[in-house]
Amino acid sequence: MADPNKRSETIIQKLRDTGHKITPQRLAIIKIIAKSTDHPSVEDIYGHIKKDFPTMSLATVYKNILLIKSLGEVLELGFPDGSNRYDGNKPYPHPHVICIKCKKILDPNLDSLDDMKKEVAAETNFKILNHRLDFFGICSNCMAEEV
Ligand code: ZN
Ligand code: MN
Repeated sequence: MADPNKRSETIIQKLRDTGHKITPQRLAIIKIIAKSTDHPSVEDIYGHIKKDFPTMSLATVYKNILLIKSLGEVLELGFPDGSNRYDGNKPYPHPHVICIKCKKILDPNLDSLDDMKKEVAAETNFKILNHRLDFFGICSNCMAEEV
């Protein structure tokens, strides 16, 4: 996990550099996504801060996430049903493992990832710029509940 304070500072600096004000609401959103390793949805982020900012709308959270995404400071995990999830702690491409039952999403550390990228490049003669690698399964908690 990246240092959440450093991640917050980086996001704040990028917003300032591009002429955006750091409002208290915006700061609260930044702090949540900088420290979250559970890949919150926009609704989850809204749920965390609406008690502190009762007048803020879900749309405001959504707009802020899109802004931060446009600066390359949050990774969007899009899903066909529209239930997008966000990783502001690690905003660069990395593998995920996703529970199909409870929708938990974790970041596995794969030693083989660099080799895999080299293998794909060698096999296809592509220069690899990006990747999306999702593993779908059932987490240990959901497995325990199944029996
Ligand atoms: Zn699960
Ligand atoms: Mn992640």
